[in-house]
Amino acid sequence: MSPIEQAQELSLYRRWRPHTFAQVIGQELVVGTLRRAAAQGQTAHAYLLCGQRGVGKTSVARILARAVNCPDARDGEPCNVCESCTRILSGRALDVVEIDGASNRGIDQIRQLREQVGYVPAGARCKVYIIDEVHMLTGEAFNALLKTLEEPPPRVLFILATTEPHKIPSTVLSRCQAFEFAPVPQGLIAAKLAEIASNEGIELEERAAALIAARSGGALRDAEVLLEQMGRGAPVTEQTVLDILGLPPTETLDAFIMGLAARDAQPPLSIVAELATRGRDLGMFLEEAAARARDQIIEGSTQLIPVARALVRWRAELPRAVSRRLHVELGILELCDPQTTPNTAGPEEAQASRSQSPATEPLSRKEEQPKEDTSRHPSPQGGPKPETENAARRQGLRASPQPESTGQEEHPDWQRMLAECYQERRSLAVFLAPAKATLTDGTLRIALPEGYRLHFECLQEPDARRLVEQIAQRCFGALMAVHVEWEGRDDPEPSLEERAALAAEVLEGEIVKEQSG
Ligand SMILES: [Zn+2]
Repeated sequence: MSPIEQAQELSLYRRWRPHTFAQVIGQELVVGTLRRAAAQGQTAHAYLLCGQRGVGKTSVARILARAVNCPDARDGEPCNVCESCTRILSGRALDVVEIDGASNRGIDQIRQLREQVGYVPAGARCKVYIIDEVHMLTGEAFNALLKTLEEPPPRVLFILATTEPHKIPSTVLSRCQAFEFAPVPQGLIAAKLAEIASNEGIELEERAAALIAARSGGALRDAEVLLEQMGRGAPVTEQTVLDILGLPPTETLDAFIMGLAARDAQPPLSIVAELATRGRDLGMFLEEAAARARDQIIEGSTQLIPVARALVRWRAELPRAVSRRLHVELGILELCDPQTTPNTAGPEEAQASRSQSPATEPLSRKEEQPKEDTSRHPSPQGGPKPETENAARRQGLRASPQPESTGQEEHPDWQRMLAECYQERRSLAVFLAPAKATLTDGTLRIALPEGYRLHFECLQEPDARRLVEQIAQRCFGALMAVHVEWEGRDDPEPSLEERAALAAEVLEGEIVKEQSG
């Protein structure tokens, strides 16, 4: 662990470090296997613990070191109170040696290890070498280590930990029993944060906990450090987390994504303009938007795939753009303009043409597209009034009766309602735009077609429902009821695996390629 990481490792994280296998979160398989091996006295000579940082590799190594030496161990769990356990816990045990592969001392320590490993363990029953970041060892150190592993002395246990197992020589790998630590699931991290907060007297909103968990990328330690940094003296709210991490509000992300999905350039352009004015990082915004779109795709909004592809592409192209803002704005206009041919991406033409072509397909095959409207992109500098009129006209186009409609005609006040929604809260108009509205016996039915499940879900949010109802009452006079419906309810949906595979293909595939290229 680097000095910076050590400095970041604040007291809260230390206090909540797991001391038994049972306390380790999210690694049931690994922990269960190691605990059973310790209980039966059948540990291997060498273990390799792989996995990203902050998932508990070192903690597990230390627990195992105590477990194999504890005279009072139960079911493979160390007692943590006996002399052996307390000595190891306080770092005073001579027979448990921790080596940091990343430090310059690594090679000297390994040499020393070679010399000392033959000696019979001093006090403890088993000598344990924990080598952290083992992939950082030099070739010379690896050779020394390999010689030891080839002829393992009795009562010596090696626990190697690494974030990058592919950098470890196969000769070393083949002599270890390897375990893969998974990223800790977000739900478990959020629950742990809630537990810590309530014990530490930190006021933590549930949504804030979820947000921290989502941002920690499966690293529980990072989440704990974030909680400690944010929880000093003040309640940790969703807004605090957004502010401190410099993240855009979910509503902004949704308005951006939905604007693109509805081929309505205005909301995304306004958002970009605002971000630029406030000096926010467009790259990070695009990453957040792509992640948000990805979550929605996995949840079933597959019509967002072209949008997600575009976001990933724009993000990849950003470092080479002359003007970052202009680059994104042109991307938005291109994506929203059905007239635009896809192959205009320049340097990334090959990749772009492959990934871009789906963007020009209809959002949903059963969905009519407003192809007739070629003047859909008012300039971002346009004043508020014409903007609103344009919006009303645009949204109004979407509300025209469809041939297969049930016979009930669209109400003319629907256009006014969309315009008012647009003024009140832009995202609302975006969510409502694809809907078909009908008025029967004082009941306004707003039906979202099957490809617009996310729109429907966004409209279910209490705040959005209240606004829609208020504006509907204003525009339609006295209404008995306002119903927002989704027509795709009974449609068979792709399985979770299919969606996940789809989303992974869309996003990870391209991100990996972009990083390695
Ligand atoms: Zn003990």
